[in-house]
Amino acid sequence: MKYDFDLICIGLGPAGMAISVMAAEMGLKVCGIEKNKIGGECMNVGCIPSKSLLRIAKYRHAFLKLSEMGLSKGLMPNINSPFSKINNYLDYISEKKTLKMFDKVELFLGKGEASFIDSHTVRIGDRNITAQRIFIATGTEPLVPPIEGISDIDILTNQNIFQLTKIPESMTIIGGGAVGCEMAQAFTRLGTKCTIVQMDDFLIPNGDKETGDLLKGIFNKENIEVYNSKKITSIKNENGKISLFTEDGICLKSEKLLVAAGRKIILDVLKVENAGVKYSKGGIEVDPEYKTSVKHIYAVGDCNGGMMFTHAAMHQGMFAIMNAVSPFAIFKYRNYVIPWTVFTEPQVSFVGMNEEELKKKGIKYKAYIAKYENYGAAIAENVSVGYVKVFANSLGRVFGVSIVGDGSGEMINEWALIIQKKIRLHSVMFLAHSFPTMGFLSKRVAEQWMMEKMKSNLVKNICRFFYRKL
Ligand SMILES: Cc1cc2nc3c(=O)[nH]c(=O)nc-3n(C[C@H](O)[C@H](O)[C@H](O)COP(=O)(O)OP(=O)(O)OC[C@H]3O[C@@H](n4cnc5c(N)ncnc54)[C@H](O)[C@@H]3O)c2cc1C
Repeated sequence: MKYDFDLICIGLGPAGMAISVMAAEMGLKVCGIEKNKIGGECMNVGCIPSKSLLRIAKYRHAFLKLSEMGLSKGLMPNINSPFSKINNYLDYISEKKTLKMFDKVELFLGKGEASFIDSHTVRIGDRNITAQRIFIATGTEPLVPPIEGISDIDILTNQNIFQLTKIPESMTIIGGGAVGCEMAQAFTRLGTKCTIVQMDDFLIPNGDKETGDLLKGIFNKENIEVYNSKKITSIKNENGKISLFTEDGICLKSEKLLVAAGRKIILDVLKVENAGVKYSKGGIEVDPEYKTSVKHIYAVGDCNGGMMFTHAAMHQGMFAIMNAVSPFAIFKYRNYVIPWTVFTEPQVSFVGMNEEELKKKGIKYKAYIAKYENYGAAIAENVSVGYVKVFANSLGRVFGVSIVGDGSGEMINEWALIIQKKIRLHSVMFLAHSFPTMGFLSKRVAEQWMMEKMKSNLVKNICRFFYRKL
């Protein structure tokens, strides 16, 4: 059968961008369909604007700190609306950088939503187009929990928060995950009184309790209130203020309400059932090569319900297209680890298994910890909060790492490589780390593991024997 294209990619967020651009470079005839803007959630209403806002907030916070220390005599910057600046950056990236990458892709941009007619045909606007393979990369949208009264409120989500025209006086945030925590710190540092309320027992529930509790302490010091383990029963609009009520009688009042309570997949318009693709509430079902139940249709990125991060989405996109052009499916997700970071200050990063998973799997491990408070460089730079914690066994095999602290988002990549490539702790110890970086703390953990080995009488005897003999 002759098709219009070699492949159609539906959705041009990080996953769809990776597929379309790579496939076009491979010489395939590619059609990319995007209902909104290229870059998806990450570029337009997620990672990029949120990090831009965090950076502006960080500068204001640093200025305030310097003033408190008597090191700055300038006036406190009044940042009433950073959003137009952020949107200017986004427009620049979109026009000058992103669009250029698609010159070999036939684009259907802003022409409506694609939907499946059958397993090789997609409808966009008034056209039916066909392809040998179809890649679904349609992402997710914010999940709004069914709380009584919530539909009467003008809620904020990540889709409209970066369009605000001024910094609100106060904001209640439903959800203490990455988005909730990052927005709480950013807005607080820009002058909003923020309160987080959530059902989970600790902040960053995908991480671990130790990290969540540490972050809560830091947030409290910055005047961010955190209510964990709370069931919200209703929300009301009262005299221009939003009142949120919990089961145990707490009432939180604020000017704005941000809902950051998870994600849901969007399949109503896409009609994957017309192509015979299986899915559940959690996402489109895929095998380890990202193929759906219909083998020439792939689903990559957030829409398959896996790890919902931009780099995971890009990684999946890259692997799916590589699998599609390889005679043997060599790129399977089981073989790769995905590090992740929450960009609060201090940053919080994880890779591999956490302690709970290790216990569940019955894996023998020990935790090795290097604290920022014991590292001169961190003390001198006034960033002495946090730790590098490594779960490893007596042979130096690393299973999981959590890092809370300045620079953890950079440091975690080294540990991802260590876990993925099964590099042992003695190799980490023998790798010279640039000093005085925070990454040097990673070497310190490896040294700790090695020093433990040196405590054994056998090792001591061998060292003594050869030293005196040679
Ligand atoms: C506030 C916030 C901050 C974040 N920060 C980070 C971060 O720091 N680091 C990180 O790794 N991740 C972060 N994320 C998560 C990250 O944004 C997502 O994991 C990532 O965007 C997923 O990429 P994707 O390609 O799977 O989907 P998306 O980026 O959601 O892209 C899907 C695209 O498909 C389009 N689409 C959907 N249906 C159709 C259709 N029927 N027809 C045509 N087009 C369609 C959509 O318009 C969209 O552009 C953040 C998320 C939020 C909300």
